[in-house]
Amino acid sequence: MAYDLRSETGIPTQPVGSLPRPAKLQAAYADYDAGRISKQQLEAEQEAAAKDSVSRFEATGSPIIADGEQWWSSFATYPVTDTLAGTGLADHLAAGGQYFAIFSDGHYRQLPKLVGGPFRYKTYAADTLARSIGFATKPMKQAVIAPSMLALLYPLDEELPGYSREDFEGDLVSECEKDIRGAFDAGAACVSIDFTEGRLALREDSRNPWTGRGMLPHFIDLINRVLDRFSPDERINIGVHTCPGGDRDAVHSADVPYAALLPSLFQLNAGFFLMQNKSERDRESVYKLVGEHSREDANGVAQVVHIGVINPQNPRAETPQEVCDELLTAAKYIPKERLGSTDDCGFSPFSIDEKPLHGSPDFARDVAFEKITSRVQGTKMAAERLGIHVPAAA
Ligand SMILES: [Zn+2]
Repeated sequence: MAYDLRSETGIPTQPVGSLPRPAKLQAAYADYDAGRISKQQLEAEQEAAAKDSVSRFEATGSPIIADGEQWWSSFATYPVTDTLAGTGLADHLAAGGQYFAIFSDGHYRQLPKLVGGPFRYKTYAADTLARSIGFATKPMKQAVIAPSMLALLYPLDEELPGYSREDFEGDLVSECEKDIRGAFDAGAACVSIDFTEGRLALREDSRNPWTGRGMLPHFIDLINRVLDRFSPDERINIGVHTCPGGDRDAVHSADVPYAALLPSLFQLNAGFFLMQNKSERDRESVYKLVGEHSREDANGVAQVVHIGVINPQNPRAETPQEVCDELLTAAKYIPKERLGSTDDCGFSPFSIDEKPLHGSPDFARDVAFEKITSRVQGTKMAAERLGIHVPAAA
């Protein structure tokens, strides 16, 4: 039976997925990379952090929670490497691939590169969800990475001998489908696909060649190839997240206007969207665009748009009133039965992240839970003001 996104809050609300890893876990990653501790010792720290994340998430009152991706190297690399330093890289991959992104503060994140085939995930989202879900008493969501991000593993301007780009992308679409089905089988109430590279694909940054190749239509096509493998009933609970990036409290594509992205984004046949919005300068014009371009019928599902009401890069916690006001403004342009709330992005998509504007990852965790609590309370306030019925618990 499909999970009802509106449960408990009337207006659906859910996180993107990640939380800062505790400083202790980040130190354990460094120790593991240096060979000072075993995989088992690293996993004990990951498990402690996942358990703490689940229990603190439940304390926010959120109707649906996540484990904060505490088991993952990053939102993008969990299928292919155990750590960001490249320990435990999957078969047919080597260090030194393309820049995924160059961020506004000048730092960058680099992907590994594919050197042969066939391409297979080493870790699926279900593998780690299965290890966290026993800690939870509430429904859990699961984030997965989009095939478009992993498409960047293939060298930009060469064809690998014996493994064409076409064959690779066929494998990629199948692996992403398997990742999503596995997450549902492991108990996920809904699954969102992280698509941060969508907005970045329009950036045309000369330092990062792939961003100037007009790849957005191809990215949309790859994700729709995955979505088309699911029925409309399944797609009600499959979403897509868009944002201008979030790492070390910096972004990578906030200067790309939404007007350039949204007409393409809403061509995705997903049942819901998690959209960065709070950190936009002109939010009302974003709501207008969402109202114009989101679809009542995306190949059998209505697109529910969760707008970002929380900025994870800003250490100041938004108030419930601010969250409520934002949703009331959005409801002027977006049909209220297709409106939801979320955070602009994960609170820490990469495992190693010192959260510089916050001062420390441990403090940033405290702030994140405070922000999530405000999101939930403010969303309930807005639902009341809009007269939205809260469905009875099953
Ligand atoms: Zn994001």
